[in-house]
Amino acid sequence: MPRRPGPQLQLFTERREPLRVAARAVDEQRVEELRARLSSRLGEPVVLSIHDNRSTMVSYRREQGRLALRVHHMFLAADEAITAALADFAAPRRGRRQAGRLLDAFIRRHQSVIRPPRPMARMEPRGRVHDLSRIFHALNERYFAGAIEASIGWSRAPLRRRRRTIKMGVYYHDTRTIRVHPALDHPTVPGYVVEFIVYHEMLHQACPAELGAGGKKLVHTDAFRARERAHPDHDRALGWEKANLEQLLARRR
Ligand SMILES: [Zn+2]
Repeated sequence: MPRRPGPQLQLFTERREPLRVAARAVDEQRVEELRARLSSRLGEPVVLSIHDNRSTMVSYRREQGRLALRVHHMFLAADEAITAALADFAAPRRGRRQAGRLLDAFIRRHQSVIRPPRPMARMEPRGRVHDLSRIFHALNERYFAGAIEASIGWSRAPLRRRRRTIKMGVYYHDTRTIRVHPALDHPTVPGYVVEFIVYHEMLHQACPAELGAGGKKLVHTDAFRARERAHPDHDRALGWEKANLEQLLARRR
């Protein structure tokens, strides 16, 4: 049995998830108290939002001279020390690292109030042509020493289409799930193309996102790209995609 994935507890300085309003009623008075304490400690106006997200517990940005801070509803139980850590975390020149450690520990203690991931619909790894499960296991042995833990399957509905690029694969950190675009399960698509796409998605677990310059979340890090280029099929897989993919997807519609 694969280990059940725990929530990611990183603190990002820039929000990346859409705001999810806390499911249970939030005590407005406690929100206002926390906001006032943060504002007085920071000596600047603070706009505080309470959310129910799963992976980004604390985020902030400065908008029009005000600090907009978004925190998980667990922080409504913050004592003075944690409130101070929240303030320090959002104040660049204070003890940021120390504050991050305190917040991490607080989040870990309150993990049980983070809502569980929504169960994914059952996915079929075996296609008409390509068997994703077999591909995944072979790649895992060969390039990751068997260390990647993820479930994999063909997505049923076509994944979101952005302007002229098509998302052929996707990795969900929350549920450790890889999904591959169903149009690739076709006799004209070479095995090495599907393998390279699965390899890319597996790398997302092996080389997690990092905080880049300006607090931006960097998904494809230098380490990620280096390992991607090291794959022997890197060039021919990308070359095939470039030459054939649009056509293949157009035919399927
Ligand atoms: Zn990617």
